[in-house]
Amino acid sequence: MKTILLTEGKTRFETPDPAKFRTSAGDYAPSLTKVFYNPHMELCRDISISVAQVASDTFNGLYLCDPLAGIGIRGLRYANEVTGVARCLINDRSTEAFELIKRNIALNGLDNSVEASSVDANVILRENRGKFNFVDLDPFGSPAPFLDAACSSLSRRGMLALTATDTAPLSGTYPKTCLRRYGTKPLKTESCHEIGIRILIGFAQRIGGIHEIALSPVLAHATQHYFRVYLLGQRSAQRADELLKETGYISYCNECLRRTTSPGLIPELPRECECGGKFSHAGPLWLGKLTNKAFTQQVIQDLTARDFRLKHHEISLLLRCAEEADGPPTFYDLNEVAGLVKKSPPKMDRVISALRECGYFASRTHFSPTGFRTDAPITEILKIIKGA
Ligand code: SAM
Repeated sequence: MKTILLTEGKTRFETPDPAKFRTSAGDYAPSLTKVFYNPHMELCRDISISVAQVASDTFNGLYLCDPLAGIGIRGLRYANEVTGVARCLINDRSTEAFELIKRNIALNGLDNSVEASSVDANVILRENRGKFNFVDLDPFGSPAPFLDAACSSLSRRGMLALTATDTAPLSGTYPKTCLRRYGTKPLKTESCHEIGIRILIGFAQRIGGIHEIALSPVLAHATQHYFRVYLLGQRSAQRADELLKETGYISYCNECLRRTTSPGLIPELPRECECGGKFSHAGPLWLGKLTNKAFTQQVIQDLTARDFRLKHHEISLLLRCAEEADGPPTFYDLNEVAGLVKKSPPKMDRVISALRECGYFASRTHFSPTGFRTDAPITEILKIIKGA
């Protein structure tokens, strides 16, 4: 296999040249190469490095597993760029990937802390029951087939990082697939990506619950074609039960944009909205916070001290996640709300200031450049937009 040498962060690696595997539209097409390396995921990997550093400082060291590794770039970067990594297992079932992983471990002089393997991800995770305090599931499509084994491999306290690229089912384009894969009904609204992330978290928490592990989200973002979620795991049946209280449904009126939440796995759901419209529902899903503000600020602090090429994009994204962290589930689209009162959209900053002056939570959201998050009732939002 012909390879080239590249660098990401501080890590050098051999990979098939990504520039050679492009669709006619110029996008990177992983299906065309035998071994996977996607340069567009650099932002995601950089943020993961800082998350892992915060986790390493919290847990006093890391025992990591990258079970779906491609050329091994994630695991290599964790081992090379995060201080406190005691052991890192990098696995991919492809034998071509395995050969490159071994060469890349040697290239970075990581033979003492990093081990390579080439078996099914579920096998390697189950063989290491309770051993890892950081597991990164970065599959093609959905992480669902690997979640049970990943939970069994987590130690008493550990971080589970998930990537999902099956955003179309999770966001309501293919609701039957979402129901089959995640046991949840999605909803196509302006907040469909946020709802998709909440579905993914709720599903992971239910699998965690089987293992008496409480999985609390500390950071979640939707970027380009993928969702990324970091869940802090704690072995505690009581804590897992508490998290279930923040699982429930989001009900949404298409006529007036009102939304309500109903906690519980089998709650009574509202049918008719005050405006006479009918509610549509999404759930069961996670209704609690997507991001822990204090944790995200620590991640931003770590990122700030690093020399990453995309650092400014990464910090802006995380600042927005922190800004919206304490808001309620789902956001409004400024153009859509202005359309309801037949007005052209006012400036976003004016709307946010006016909502805050009235005592409501208000912020932008990283999910959409025209979105705003607030706990104000829709009647108040409409009044403010009319007056803005
Ligand atoms: N984590 C990589 C990165 O950051 O570049 C990308 C991984 S790629 C999305 C998914 C990888 O999982 C592929 O290299 C594929 O060979 C591997 N894979 C798919 N199913 C697997 C399984 N059941 N067990 C182990 N590896 C698997």
